[in-house]
Amino acid sequence: MAQIKTAPSPTDFADVREWVFDLDNTLYPHHVDLFSQIDRNMTAYVAALLRMDREAARVVQKRYYHEHGTTLQGLMIHHGIDADDFLEKAHAIDYTGLVPQPELAAAIKALPGRKFIFTNGSVKHAQATAGALGILDHFDDIFDIVAAEYVPKPAGSTYDKFASLHRVDTKNAAMFEDLPRNLNVPKALGMRTVLLVPQNLEGTFTEWWERQSDSDDHVDYVTDDLTTFLKALV
Ligand SMILES: [Mg+2]
Repeated sequence: MAQIKTAPSPTDFADVREWVFDLDNTLYPHHVDLFSQIDRNMTAYVAALLRMDREAARVVQKRYYHEHGTTLQGLMIHHGIDADDFLEKAHAIDYTGLVPQPELAAAIKALPGRKFIFTNGSVKHAQATAGALGILDHFDDIFDIVAAEYVPKPAGSTYDKFASLHRVDTKNAAMFEDLPRNLNVPKALGMRTVLLVPQNLEGTFTEWWERQSDSDDHVDYVTDDLTTFLKALV
């Protein structure tokens, strides 16, 4: 992990005019754990659809996730489900664990150029999440799983779709993500890549890293504090 930096120098990002953020576990910290609620909703959806108990449904859910990148994609391919209905039910969660983050809002606002949310979730979930964090107004647009025609990151075609829809010049762009595999394509497209990791990882970081990724070539920076990282850029 020789070349990975934890603190940016402002000049490293001086030419960046397109700021692309994943949503879950990136714009809010990992420990908020909204995903466990979404995960439970997806299990309940599969259980109802396939008339299974939760344990059996969970096996199907995780198999689709691994084989197709999202549970939704597997359910669409194998069971022809209505994607909107699934997204609505999966994201019917309690957002009260999120509180406004004025410092983060100011740091995002201060970045020069355009800002995007690029998520494998839905626009509605992104709006609810970013709204609860008090940062929604600072984004130019949200690219979600519907815009991606249900093909999730890390598929290369989905990044291409995002970049061409919004005319993003990837050479002058930066991508922030909590999943290392979702930074592979951005790096290949010439983007600056920033990996968000859970807080208080020190001591276990190397072990965690080894579980996450075979290679770190596509990660330029690692941070456990998005606000501090962004404030260092302007
Ligand atoms: Mg994420």
